[in-house]
Amino acid sequence: MPIPSRWESPVPNTSLQQWIFGSATAPLPDPDRKAFIDVDNPDRFLTFAEYRALAKRVALGLRDVAGIQPGDRVLLFSRNHLYFPSIFLGVLMAGAVFTGANPTYVARELAYQLRDSGARIVVTAQDSLSVALDAAAQAGLPADRIFVLDDSSPDDSSASPPASETTRHWTKLVASRQAAESYEWVEPADARETTCCLNYSSGTTGVPKGVEISHYSYVANGVGVVEMSSLAEDHAEAVLRSAGLCFLPMYHAYAQTYFVANFAKMRIPVYVMPAFDFLKMLAHVQRYRITQLTAVPPVLVALAKHPAARQFDLSSIESVGCGAAPLGSDTQAAVERMFADKNSSNNNNNNNNNKTKTKTNDKTNDNPLLVRQGWGMTELTCTAMTWDPRRHDGKSNAVGEVMPNCRAKLVDVATGKEVTAPHTQGELWVSGPTVMRGYWRNPKATAETIVVDSEEGNNNNNNNNNTRTRWLRTGDIAYVDAYRPGALFFIVDRIKELIKVKGHQVAPAELEALLLERPDVADVAVVGVTVRGEEVPRAYVVRTPGSTASPEEISGWLDGRVARFKRLRGGVVFTDNIPKNPSGKILRKILREKAKQEVGDS
Ligand code: AMP
Repeated sequence: MPIPSRWESPVPNTSLQQWIFGSATAPLPDPDRKAFIDVDNPDRFLTFAEYRALAKRVALGLRDVAGIQPGDRVLLFSRNHLYFPSIFLGVLMAGAVFTGANPTYVARELAYQLRDSGARIVVTAQDSLSVALDAAAQAGLPADRIFVLDDSSPDDSSASPPASETTRHWTKLVASRQAAESYEWVEPADARETTCCLNYSSGTTGVPKGVEISHYSYVANGVGVVEMSSLAEDHAEAVLRSAGLCFLPMYHAYAQTYFVANFAKMRIPVYVMPAFDFLKMLAHVQRYRITQLTAVPPVLVALAKHPAARQFDLSSIESVGCGAAPLGSDTQAAVERMFADKNSSNNNNNNNNNKTKTKTNDKTNDNPLLVRQGWGMTELTCTAMTWDPRRHDGKSNAVGEVMPNCRAKLVDVATGKEVTAPHTQGELWVSGPTVMRGYWRNPKATAETIVVDSEEGNNNNNNNNNTRTRWLRTGDIAYVDAYRPGALFFIVDRIKELIKVKGHQVAPAELEALLLERPDVADVAVVGVTVRGEEVPRAYVVRTPGSTASPEEISGWLDGRVARFKRLRGGVVFTDNIPKNPSGKILRKILREKAKQEVGDS
């Protein structure tokens, strides 16, 4: 019995840029409103008109200078940057496909994404240039296909050249204002069938794969998020006082969808942080009166536990959203308590000072700030469930209800039958317009992940065939509190291989393949274990006979080959054999249980 969303919201079959701006050339209703602001230097910003204009200039430059054609892939390898969103949308406007790489990647990891995506050019931040050069060499991409992004203005033709003889400065990709003025971007003939992004995810099994997201899915995600936003009730007024802070990495679907697309659609200014830093985050919230905090669980853990959280004025915050990994109910409650305490003392101060209460401080004990969880997946564009801020019934640590236009069901893992009783666990399957087109050049993995159901007679807008529903198997175990639209979902376990470290994906298959390159490792399995509230990778290793390698030696060896967040912080344990089923599949559940007993949180 699939559970539908409470909303059917029309999804226009247009490009993402069309949905955000409405037109390539018509004047915008609020051209001078700030769209993106550099937190470290607020005099550096882009207005909404400049956001669109710069993206169009990049689109033209991609076409004319870099020879990018519709369908080509462009890789951006950078920390968050004021110009990141314009480069992202510029790629889409050129009809090309955006792929963002984790800025902490080492060259081997970046080379994999370059090869797999077949990116024709790379735009890289100055401080990532040496990794990009190394990766490009490994992937056979000539260095003159690398463009170097720095803080210089797009109009600064005297910008210092990049620190390599062959690479080019990013301003070379920026066409003149005049040329771009009348430029109409590439509008896809069918946005459902046109991929705009390849976001990398390992899905339920194996190594990272390019997730093909269509323009239509991206727009559908935005339509749902806007409908479910805390601003939906009094939108115009709410928007005027709203401000977001982006410290989540823009290469990942979470920040990409919220900040680059959806906040822009809602005309909410976004303060851009290059990367996460807890104390700076607190200072920026206070300084810029941030209203929307879009976060992941470790940020909430820090808010709950770090004494500094109580030393800053966070009273501007109206909404805290949290997703990408499980959030402990204790943490959620502690954060809500902290805001309640702070607000009651703020309100007292306000009363004592006889000040008029501002709307931003309008969080009272009757209407307290609640943490809004969300649940999503790269394969579902991003958010697929979230809390509707308009409902305050029995707030709990549920991840929320099904997003507009989507449906969800639970499938018994042992029998493959649909679960029909509330509070009964099953694997979560989701259908709707945000389901990915498939894994890039990987029909096998796509077929293993998307189940086409031909008996439903409901297309959920997600394909052109009215009699077929495409269900995405999520690899998450959930239950629901009732079988009705608007029911609340609770995530209780993960049966897929994926490990999430601070919201970043770690694919055990990737670490296992690397460790097996060592002659002294005969077999290995990597699983996640939660230590002090944080999920980290732990390796079980079978050594070859005669090997004297120590756990430290093996984990140290891996450290040099992977981004920091993938390190084996859960330890390396020697074992005689890896439990497997008769067909050789690692029985990860057994190892996860073992890890939990050995070192995990109870
Ligand atoms: P990603 O594709 O990187 O967004 O990762 C998606 C996965 O992150 C999901 O399938 C879940 O395993 C996990 N995840 C995301 N949000 C939540 C949440 N609110 N609670 C528990 N797990 C989550």
